[in-house]
Amino acid sequence: LLHILYDIVISRSCVPKPIDCLASEIGLLSYEVELYGKTKAKVQLETIDRLRAQADGKYVVVTGITPTPLGEGKSTTTIGLVQALGAHLNRNVFACVRQPSQGPTFGIKGGAAGGGYSQVIPMEEFNLHLTGDIHAITAANNLVAAAIDARMFHEATQSDKALFNRLVPLSGGQRKFSPVQINRLKKLGIEKTDPSTLTEEEITRFARLDIDPESITWQRVLDTNDRFLRKITVGQSPTEKGCLFLQAQFDITVASEIMAVLALTSSMEDMRQRLAKMVVATSRSGVPITTEDLGVCGALTVLMKDAIKPNLMQTLEGNPVFVHAGPFANIAHGNSSILADKIALKLVGPDGFVVTEAGFGADIGMEKFFNIKCRYSGLRPHVVVLVATVRALKMHGGGPTVSGLLLTGNTLCFVFQNLELVEKGCSNLRKQVENAKHFGVPVVVAVNAFKTDSEAELQLICKLAKEAGAFDAVPCTHWADGGAGAVELGKAVQKAAEAPSKFSFLYDIELPVVDKIRIIAQKIYGADDIELLPDAQHKVDLYTKQGFGNLPICMAKTHLSLSHDAEKKGVPTGFVLPIRDIRASVGAGFLYPLVGTMPTIPGLPTRPCFYDIDLDPLTGEVIGLF
Ligand code: ADP
Repeated sequence: LLHILYDIVISRSCVPKPIDCLASEIGLLSYEVELYGKTKAKVQLETIDRLRAQADGKYVVVTGITPTPLGEGKSTTTIGLVQALGAHLNRNVFACVRQPSQGPTFGIKGGAAGGGYSQVIPMEEFNLHLTGDIHAITAANNLVAAAIDARMFHEATQSDKALFNRLVPLSGGQRKFSPVQINRLKKLGIEKTDPSTLTEEEITRFARLDIDPESITWQRVLDTNDRFLRKITVGQSPTEKGCLFLQAQFDITVASEIMAVLALTSSMEDMRQRLAKMVVATSRSGVPITTEDLGVCGALTVLMKDAIKPNLMQTLEGNPVFVHAGPFANIAHGNSSILADKIALKLVGPDGFVVTEAGFGADIGMEKFFNIKCRYSGLRPHVVVLVATVRALKMHGGGPTVSGLLLTGNTLCFVFQNLELVEKGCSNLRKQVENAKHFGVPVVVAVNAFKTDSEAELQLICKLAKEAGAFDAVPCTHWADGGAGAVELGKAVQKAAEAPSKFSFLYDIELPVVDKIRIIAQKIYGADDIELLPDAQHKVDLYTKQGFGNLPICMAKTHLSLSHDAEKKGVPTGFVLPIRDIRASVGAGFLYPLVGTMPTIPGLPTRPCFYDIDLDPLTGEVIGLF
């Protein structure tokens, strides 16, 4: 409880710089900055064009060992490292982090502003609505869901001619196609622009998408951990005439394809194209149906036009932070936006550092950072910072899991030194260092120190990390001491950034889908093999036939184990990874295998974080966020 109060109290103890002052300090011009109050601003994408000739800074990605459900301090370390490099080592710096979902904020894990004296401030602004980007994504996503069902409804209840006349209405006595309809005609091979010249057969082909209801892959989304929406039935009202009784489901917004599009896009035009390419279903004759076929892609671009601009905030020590896009790392690709990283790399210049965070352990967020984000951005990181904690390593060494610990109250092994458990648990650290080294980038291990850790435990981890092939390993105390506690980490990162590196991807995207999944499963998770369940096999065949087989892979797997079983700690071996199903995010640009029974919308625990959250009636301030 103490630390629950702590983060928000520390955040509030510091008066943030006016955000327009920070913006001008870091070289943004006033017309490039759109203020959202005094502590947040959006930055226009034109900044990239203005700074095109400027060389990029050094690019650092923060990842971690397999965490406990509480998190091991990657966000805290990202902010602590930026504070150290900026305020203490005199470098131009930028942190690039994800916007947190309200799922964990009100669920079990809390917010994601960092913690202690290494935070993004004001943390309540950061953790709640920010500038509304996640709400914009929810609105855009659900417009597509409504468009699919409404289109099927209208097709089921109208003749071809009536449909056509409504889709291409008379205006001033003439029918005219909209630009998006002309694109659809082209896709159908109909090179006509005058509606009156279409044959009956062409009218039918144009008007009927003929969606196979069983093939719909587009889900509704909500940014809430509402487990009862995992499976629902829509179309129950008599007004829909009982013509559609569809099984549907909700996903959490941060796992949606539109969130991934936001994170992976490179410009407004590119976003528009990606939003148009999203495949939502297949027609009864096997043709993929896109958002462009539904005519909704222009409206989606309008809904997302402000969300595409990165949000500027600051650290407790006044360094700039971009908060932009927030895909979960276990059921999505887990990395903040390419656009934010690109603008930040220009703003810091060649001697500066941009520190970005990849969600959860290195097997999850970092693998996707390299194989998906870097593939699309063309950016190559100079250093991987891998965060480890004594508590998680003790868990991997055979100590109680955090849920076990909360149930039994057995905290003794965490409070007292236990070198044996730490050493055993370092198997997980060793494997995650290896995972990072697969990509040829130097790895610095940051041992995020808690008050209960002993010096001997911290030193043991550093020694074992170096033996595992880390470029360097240092304990750090930025949670308790701010940037001053991460100066040694900052120095190690500076050195590693000058070290030679030889970047390579883990797999060639032209390989067959199954081979790409197997490479990730075997090389990163340590699986013996993969097993494709019938739905997954069907999707491999379908997506390959539809021409989507050459996309990178975004595994949806538990973050709590290297395997698919959250209970298996350390380095599990002798397992076969079950692939239950595969989805295609064609607009975002990846295939999305579901490993085991991974739910795509979390649930709330018995005692969620929201029990502590309130508005103080005396001061009007938010309390209980952490
Ligand atoms: P991650 O990004 O890896 O999920 P966070 O940085 O969000 O982890 O940290 C998770 C929680 O742990 C936060 O509430 C943070 O305040 C707390 N925390 C992180 N590092 C420490 C530390 N060294 N001592 C105490 N609490 C910490």
